[in-house]
Amino acid sequence: MEPKQKNFTVWYFVAAAVALMLVQALVLAPHVENLSYSEFKSLVAKGKVTNLVIAKQVISGTLAADGLEGLLPKEKLDELKRYGNGVHQFVTARVDDPALVADLEAARVRFTGTVENTWLTALLGWVVPALVFVGLWAFLMRRMGNAQGGLLAIGKSRAKVYVETSTGVSFDDVAGIDEARGELMEIVDFLKRPERYRRLGGKIPKGVLLVGAPGTGKTLLAKAVAGEAKVPFFSLSGSDFIEMFVGVGAARVRDLFEQAQAKAPSIVFIDELDALGKARGIAPGFGGHDEREQTLNQLLAELDGFDSSKGVIIMAATNRPEILDPALLRPGRFDRKVVVDRPDLKGREMILRVHTRGVTLAPGVDLTAIAARTPGFVGADLANLVNEAALGAARANKNAVEMADFDEAIDRVVGGLERRSRLIGPREKEIVAHHEAGHAIVAELRPRADRVHKISIIPRGIAALGYTEQEPTEDRYLMTRADLLDRVDVLLGGRVAEEIIFGDVSTGAADDLRRATDMARHMVAQYSMSEKLGLATFEEPRQTFLEVGGSAAREYSEATAQAIDVEIAGILSAAHVRVRETLTAHRSTVEALAKLLIDKEVVNAEQLRGLLGPVLS
Ligand code: ADP
Ligand code: ZN
Repeated sequence: MEPKQKNFTVWYFVAAAVALMLVQALVLAPHVENLSYSEFKSLVAKGKVTNLVIAKQVISGTLAADGLEGLLPKEKLDELKRYGNGVHQFVTARVDDPALVADLEAARVRFTGTVENTWLTALLGWVVPALVFVGLWAFLMRRMGNAQGGLLAIGKSRAKVYVETSTGVSFDDVAGIDEARGELMEIVDFLKRPERYRRLGGKIPKGVLLVGAPGTGKTLLAKAVAGEAKVPFFSLSGSDFIEMFVGVGAARVRDLFEQAQAKAPSIVFIDELDALGKARGIAPGFGGHDEREQTLNQLLAELDGFDSSKGVIIMAATNRPEILDPALLRPGRFDRKVVVDRPDLKGREMILRVHTRGVTLAPGVDLTAIAARTPGFVGADLANLVNEAALGAARANKNAVEMADFDEAIDRVVGGLERRSRLIGPREKEIVAHHEAGHAIVAELRPRADRVHKISIIPRGIAALGYTEQEPTEDRYLMTRADLLDRVDVLLGGRVAEEIIFGDVSTGAADDLRRATDMARHMVAQYSMSEKLGLATFEEPRQTFLEVGGSAAREYSEATAQAIDVEIAGILSAAHVRVRETLTAHRSTVEALAKLLIDKEVVNAEQLRGLLGPVLS
């Protein structure tokens, strides 16, 4: 969440500076001509000056309006003219001239001496602008302060801005993550009736850590808890704590807890806890390190210090629990962990229902089918999908959102915007068509691979020239060795089709090959699916940010590393042989499908099965 920023810009400063200059030009500094002493003396002699004020350093006075020709050089006369016919002041440096008074008296010029009294000049020339600046600064700071703390309010938490007295979110708005929701019901109950728990001496949870991928609905859940319990919701993001001055973050934490306790019962929500609570000592960045540590220490102190029976519950969200400082997870701190999973098929359907509540759907729209086509989507993706579909239908001036709009939206969300305008040569198109046909046919012929939903050679995004979209028959949590091998085969299908048809290969298969290699590596190193290496796992060493470029420490020998590489190569080359056999046997089908693709650009499951029918049965 971003705070609403007041539209405060540098223009305020520009306007203020201009205004100040105008004030000075018009009020504080009327035109004053600088004269040399000799010019001054000749003016005195002709009686062209009046109202002389003789100070210690300078002599000033008023110039006569006319008759100055010949007394002043031409450029000074021109300058005076430019300023118009008004009264012209002048000033000249005072020279030690004993004859001055006599001359003035001879010319009958009125003059006064002055005691060196600078307070008025000082006031006008210095104090007033300074006051204006201070006032302006205070004004701007107050404005900034309203928006986000500002410099005058260092340490006054931004939480003030984020506080929502009622979030208006209820558990009905959260779908598809029932397990997490169930666990949080208890918290709601506690916030509603704290005395009931206190009476029985029950221990009240202080901190709840929500763990899950971005967009799975962690913030939404925390808001729903506050909404259901009807308590204020204070929220902050871990990255907000990291401030430019050491000590500010810590002050913010203190202030946040103070505010939350004053409003108890309440919920404090810290998003991106990992930004703040990274294990101390991991990857000390460039500066900001001490600052984070101080802030973290303050947070720990607050967690320990406050009395949970007052009804303040701290919720925090992270998608990287493994990097959190263990101190945060100790009893009495974030000791409850609630996992927020990616939604499964049923869950996705429920989330779609929530988000289509306010959308007019055409009769043919099947949310179950949409859910089936969007494995891996999280709540935020699905919300985005519904919105895209609704926008698409609106653009087409439809009265309701149709299934076709959802299809289009899925394509958009999955693979970036379609770029029909991108030009592809006929030769390229042919290669891409055969490549995708290879993927699709291997997928259809391998019993454990996901069925093909759609094949397209319309380029989308930056990299993909075509794609084959598969539709899992069910969500899979476990995969066998045979499942994985079928997937590797499908990935190689594109490359092998190019080999067979054109006798040459293109760069288009790079991503497929990388994914196939990754999969083979996981099979060997993580899942111990290779017979040679036995049951041990060989986690790939994690590179920390400090070691980029260097080789990270490995926990196995060089010999083992070589054996792993050999196994990976073995898996890939065996797959290569298998896929080559398959596609050589079905070469004519590959060619027929590629032709259909070149014609239609998009081939759906039905058309594909029609083509493959005789082959498969
Ligand atoms: P996170 O905090 O986990 O990154 P958010 O809670 O900010 O995710 O989710 C962003 C948006 O996605 C929500 O405002 C909501 O519209 C939608 N969303 C996410 N998860 C769900 C869900 N389980 N049910 C309904 N909507 C969801
Ligand atoms: Zn491919």
